[in-house]
Amino acid sequence: LRRNPGEPEFHQAVGEVLESLAPVLAARPELADAKLVERLMEPERQIMFRVCWTDDRGETHVNRGFRVEFNSALGPFKGGLRFHPSLNLGIVKFLGFEQIFKNALTGLGMGGAKGGSDFDPHGRSDGEVMRFCQAFMTELSRHIGDRTDVPAGDIGVGGREIGYLFGQYRRLTNRWDAGVLTGKGTGWGGSQVRKEATGYGNVLFTAEMLRKRGLDLAGLQVSVSGSGNVALYSIEKAHALGARVVTVSDSDGYVVDEKGIDLPLLRHVKEVERGRVRDYAERRGSSARYVPGGRVWEVPADVALPSATQNELDADDALALVRNGVRAVSEGANMPTTPEAVRIFEEAGVAFGPGKAANAGGVATSALEMRQNAGRESWSFARVEQELADVMRRIHDTVYETSERFGQPGNYVVGANIAGFERVADAMLAQGLV
Ligand code: NDP
Repeated sequence: LRRNPGEPEFHQAVGEVLESLAPVLAARPELADAKLVERLMEPERQIMFRVCWTDDRGETHVNRGFRVEFNSALGPFKGGLRFHPSLNLGIVKFLGFEQIFKNALTGLGMGGAKGGSDFDPHGRSDGEVMRFCQAFMTELSRHIGDRTDVPAGDIGVGGREIGYLFGQYRRLTNRWDAGVLTGKGTGWGGSQVRKEATGYGNVLFTAEMLRKRGLDLAGLQVSVSGSGNVALYSIEKAHALGARVVTVSDSDGYVVDEKGIDLPLLRHVKEVERGRVRDYAERRGSSARYVPGGRVWEVPADVALPSATQNELDADDALALVRNGVRAVSEGANMPTTPEAVRIFEEAGVAFGPGKAANAGGVATSALEMRQNAGRESWSFARVEQELADVMRRIHDTVYETSERFGQPGNYVVGANIAGFERVADAMLAQGLV
């Protein structure tokens, strides 16, 4: 705490992992002796930089850029870029720290990192977003590379932004290094299913958790928060598996749609018009109701998939969900559930999937994109989707088996933290003091 003042989200993320690790440190004293926990909490490198750009009226803006390269014991640094006005160093560090464990859980060779800027893309023209991305990449380009650090998207960074970032990287380096960024368009080095992967993966993980309890996702009512990349493709997969998603939200309010969310309409509003969920409700007709400023978790649901941002589901929300009979909660977003809310779910016997495990499908598919880029290949949608399904099942089983091995069967938080930690810690131990 003293070394990292003013970083509450980072403290929260570290605290949650530390709470889980006591049994593994007791069972394997060599990990404690090598100060692996202390070493893991310290990023290998953190970079902060000035980003200057001009808006459409010629006015100059000054933003801050970040890249925290947390741990590269398992492979090149890997993790998304977030553009959101709330971003600060503590948030980037929490995201980077979580990314180490998530990437380890995929079983693939990736270290952990995260970055972004406090730039707010809302309401900005394409030209403004492009100039910002070019200015941001002008500095970031010195720090990344297919063997060094491979960024991707996150909040506020989707296909459009990755395109502008890649274009500037190519211009600066005079090289076609497809492997330097993931989330690229499928026509120029991107992978099939990358856009869908985080949402699809979270729903597949949820289905595995339910199956373990003898339940089927088909026929269940699902509430989703957010209306961005993760939310949209969670809805698509949940509907494909026979569930009915009845909510979506953004930072202004939420929509409840009794007939189930009309995904083509929502995608048009969000992806084509870059509109709000309020616009969806206005077009949808009588089945949909818009609730400005409300809490989406007051809507009864069997399954809740928080897919917007950190700490969006607190103790009151958890109590409301439990009261309404929720059976599973799985984190599409990173750390959306507060520690108090997680405890409420645990005590109520609700299956709880932590983001480190549940939303790892995105980065796993990024690893598949890197493999395709390295081999100059382009795999079919069906092949990548099958690999994603295999990875999610493997992550679920590893996490469950680890929770059993340490005497807390079905505690996916403990299972994910220990399984991720062991893999990284063993690699760090083998590689010596670096
Ligand atoms: P998007 O930018 O596509 O969508 C974010 C959604 O969350 C929007 O609906 C946005 O609403 C809402 N939101 C963001 N910040 C807030 C806030 N402070 N309060 C309320 N609502 C908010 O991002 P993604 O879908 O890519 O990311 C969502 C979450 O999933 C994040 O936690 C991210 O870290 C995590 N994640 C994403 C992965 C990916 O592959 N994209 C991979 C793994 C995790 P509004 O438009 O009003 O801001």
